[in-house]
Amino acid sequence: MFRMKSRLSKWMFAVYLLIASVCVGPISAQSKNVSPVAPGAERVKAVVTEAYEKFRGDTGGKNADYIPYLAKVDSKLFGVAVVTTDNQVFALGDVKYSFSIQSIAKVFSLALAMEESGPDKVFEKIGSEPTGRAFNSPVAVVDMPSHTANPLVNAGAIATVSLISGSTADEKWDKILDFYSKVAGEKLTLIDEVYKSEAATNTGNKALSYLLAKYDRIYADPFESVDVYTKECSVGVNATQLARMGATLANNGVNPATGERVIKEEDIPHILSTMMMAGLYDGSGGWAWHVGLPAKSGVGGGIVAIVPGKGAIAVFAPPLDEAGNSVKAQKVIEYVANKLDFNLYSPSSVGLK
Ligand code: GLU
Repeated sequence: MFRMKSRLSKWMFAVYLLIASVCVGPISAQSKNVSPVAPGAERVKAVVTEAYEKFRGDTGGKNADYIPYLAKVDSKLFGVAVVTTDNQVFALGDVKYSFSIQSIAKVFSLALAMEESGPDKVFEKIGSEPTGRAFNSPVAVVDMPSHTANPLVNAGAIATVSLISGSTADEKWDKILDFYSKVAGEKLTLIDEVYKSEAATNTGNKALSYLLAKYDRIYADPFESVDVYTKECSVGVNATQLARMGATLANNGVNPATGERVIKEEDIPHILSTMMMAGLYDGSGGWAWHVGLPAKSGVGGGIVAIVPGKGAIAVFAPPLDEAGNSVKAQKVIEYVANKLDFNLYSPSSVGLK
């Protein structure tokens, strides 16, 4: 009886597969043409709009002020943008305003360093361990066995810049800006006022670079590396450009707007795991707990979060929490990720729900 039932169900399954393939075509051909968010694009739009409305009046946090320019940015600015891996764009609020990318730049310099030197060398020269301390901590440089810790804290990021090749600092900088522009799919530029403001006050970063030199963990001239690093932090992006940079990561390194492969596919897991581990400074553990998406914040008020294979969400809102992460951006992304079940550690992300 049991055997007959199982034979019958096998037979029925074969018929089902046949009918299904006649109706919708082979699964691989079908999935190629289907939007990663379809048929849920409307749902994504609705949830992002809900989050925007829910948190637009939130007054928590305070602009960064250790870089004088940032203290003057209008703290009410608020923009949310989603770009999918098939280049659909949903944008709300102040999404044309160009803000400084700040620490989010570190993700893309890590990508460029790996592009040039490969992940093994970057792991050896920089490492990938959490510090449990503030992003600009000199104590972490002294305490951590690798000293550089990881590419997303200031010390590790300055060392990552020092790994990028170039016979002069200008050549290195041009290469970095060109790379970021390819990731964004359009020409990005430096916000000169931000650069000047930060260059005039970055004594802490200069100190970090000299501390790294003491341990032989910086690979070019320390002050020159800090200068190029300061420029990369001063690149201007709007929320949509930032979301597209994230979507390039979500799309396995291919820019969804230009179709250009900018980052090697094999580098993507290293980038995303580093973002998960240290993307929100010493708030990264809480972020992984509540949201479960690789993300990176910057003290300019931006955060970008990656939903692999689907797209990225970028939020810009200048007031920050104690750890240096935009308060509103965290709330919006957490809301959207939970409502749309994007958490990478949730059983449904591996088809178990
Ligand atoms: N340029 C900033 C600094 O070096 C970046 C920090 C950040 O966004 O976390 O302090």
